[in-house]
Amino acid sequence: MADEIGQMRPRLDTGHSVVESTAPRPTAADPQVVRYRINNMCCPTEERLIRNKLEGMPGIERLDFNLIDRMLNVRHRLDSQEAVQRALAAIGMQATAVGAAAPEAPAADTAPFTTVQKAVLGMSGAAACAAEVLAWAGHGEASPPVVALALVSIVAGGLPTLRKGWISLKTFTLNINLLMSLAVVGAVAIGQWPEAAMVIFLFAMAEMIESMSLTRARNAVHGLLRIAPETADVRVGDGGWETVRADHVPVGALIRVKAGERIALDGVVEAGESAVDQAPITGESMPIDKRRGDAVFAGTINAHGMLEVRVTSASGDSTLARIVRVLEETQGNQAPTQRFIDRFARWYTPAVVLAALCVAVVPPLAFGLPAAAWLYKALVMLVIACPCALVISTPVTVVSGLTAAARRGILVKGGEFLEAGSRLRAIALDKTGTLTRGIPSVAEVAAFGTLREADVLLLAASLNAHSTHPLARAMHAAAPKGRMLRQVRGFANLPGRGVQGDIGGKRHWLGNARLLEEQGAATAEANAALARFETQGRTAVVLFNGEDVLGAIAVADTLRAQAPDAVAALAALGVQTVMLTGDNARTAQEIAAQTGIKQVRAELLPEDKLGEIERLRTAFGAVGMAGDGINDAPALARAEVGFAMGAAGSDTAIETADVALMDDDLRKLPEFIRLARATRRVLAQNIAAALVIKAVFFALALAGAATLWMAVFADVGASLLVVANGLRLLRFGAAGVAPAAARSG
Ligand code: ADP
Ligand code: MG
Repeated sequence: MADEIGQMRPRLDTGHSVVESTAPRPTAADPQVVRYRINNMCCPTEERLIRNKLEGMPGIERLDFNLIDRMLNVRHRLDSQEAVQRALAAIGMQATAVGAAAPEAPAADTAPFTTVQKAVLGMSGAAACAAEVLAWAGHGEASPPVVALALVSIVAGGLPTLRKGWISLKTFTLNINLLMSLAVVGAVAIGQWPEAAMVIFLFAMAEMIESMSLTRARNAVHGLLRIAPETADVRVGDGGWETVRADHVPVGALIRVKAGERIALDGVVEAGESAVDQAPITGESMPIDKRRGDAVFAGTINAHGMLEVRVTSASGDSTLARIVRVLEETQGNQAPTQRFIDRFARWYTPAVVLAALCVAVVPPLAFGLPAAAWLYKALVMLVIACPCALVISTPVTVVSGLTAAARRGILVKGGEFLEAGSRLRAIALDKTGTLTRGIPSVAEVAAFGTLREADVLLLAASLNAHSTHPLARAMHAAAPKGRMLRQVRGFANLPGRGVQGDIGGKRHWLGNARLLEEQGAATAEANAALARFETQGRTAVVLFNGEDVLGAIAVADTLRAQAPDAVAALAALGVQTVMLTGDNARTAQEIAAQTGIKQVRAELLPEDKLGEIERLRTAFGAVGMAGDGINDAPALARAEVGFAMGAAGSDTAIETADVALMDDDLRKLPEFIRLARATRRVLAQNIAAALVIKAVFFALALAGAATLWMAVFADVGASLLVVANGLRLLRFGAAGVAPAAARSG
């Protein structure tokens, strides 16, 4: 038995199998994945039950649960899934196999309970109350009218519980249903009929409310996806427009979005001008001006003006769809608190059950105390033995936190990073592209020797033709018009320094002062130009070959408008900011002064950035890092939490960062920290509340002061309290963007 309980741990794994399930249908010899939707699986209890039943079956390789979505992925090597379905039916699980394709938004769970179900439960409650009142008014606890009322209540409200309890008993699974069933049977055995009725009714009601709360959490996630319209107006051959289902619109089609409508698909504006409310994606509620060439996202709202949009990705690949997929797939990425609760639940239930057993057996046998009274105390203990409140509150809290973040344009990859976020004491910020806009432009060119300025720019652009560095883009943009780029052979990136390549058979370099020095090419003329550019806060690079320094280029990049606010807000939260940059110290100091950052580490090579993160980790315990992924990917990976900026426009950032900020607003960093801390507070409150309530009832039960129904009430109350407290996070800072994103289209 101990072993069974030992495995009674809640897991909310998802994701992995989803990826596998998109693979082509394998032959029977290869593992297959079936996705089941199990409507009556909403508690870790049921997960344990299913694991016990399926894990031993030959051919079953792996089970992945997502309790909040009530989904089960079964990886198996069976010829047909019939056996799985039969096994699930045997333990009372209503499983429907759903398409193996990537998760599409399940239909809205409007009313998980029918009016009939609610009425039956109401009847159970009324009968239970009546039984209590009669017993209290002087009829015996086991008198015929009381027994009759109690029976009505138990049959109306308790049959599902008793049935599940019976299944648990048969499958040797210690779970809440079994505990409740034992408590009810025990109460009846010692003639406490009204108690039995009350216990079963309160428990059934709690299950219903809990399930509705989970539905709310689930709908909050799917609500995000459903904001994209289901149809789009597509241009057809004769120049007219035709309404087509969004998931049937091919990439490259032209769609029309009228004023006030939501955009159905990701695309690029081809005609028209408007302002678009991008809050659902980026959390930014100020409409953004859009004109020809600008990217727009599915789910955002066209405020005025008609837009014609060239579709750039299928409906299932839209930024919005990817956000929702990440949210769903990373739910299994447990926060440390969840893992702690996991381990706690493993010994808590068996320990309390054991204690209850001792309480029932030892006092009557060893000390001759009244058996019925001590059995009753033991039953009370059984009721509080289930860690349900604890185990369900954590995923609800975490999912609420993740959803609230997503609504604000902050995509967090699971509870792990949300929790890590609450511990951050310092955040390292990359300069180029993070603190600055990352759209540098050439501000000044100095030509030395025989070359003219345009020649310097042409060579610089040629050398950088194959680089994606923001600086390279500035050179591309500044290349003299109408002149062919020179052919470059042997191109190489010199991370943190610059680039090199052969032009006209001669090795050329373009890069910073470090590179110039390393190659032993520094001249007084070049150094003077570098110094002049740098004190202006500009990034300076030099162009040289083995013989001469040919020129110097000053590149200016503007500071992001919100950077000073963000740094100040972080400081107010007690989070230090540190600038990390490969740029030279003078430029870095200048930008730092403009943003209010006090600590600057400049002239860093990519590996130095990594070392700097290590050093900050030793100094502060937990550090975050925000960067653009160019020359700082290792540092981003090493930080506790790696933040990627402007993820809405980037294909990889959503997938790779720990936390993806959908737009470039640095104020999302303090926002994230506040939300992370709020989540942690709620988790702590919930755990404390659940444990204190259990402890109090344990003591009261021992003292003989707690009745069964009080224990159920407390247990149920604790569950509801913690779930409600967790859901509170959905409204975190609701005044901002949440309402806009919560509107479903
Ligand atoms: P950061 O992102 O912090 O500015 P990087 O490591 O990307 O740091 O770059 C450091 C420095 O190396 C730049 O400031 C620039 O001087 C030089 N550099 C890097 N890549 C290039 C390039 N493609 N062209 C010219 N200079 C470059
Ligand atoms: Mg960079």
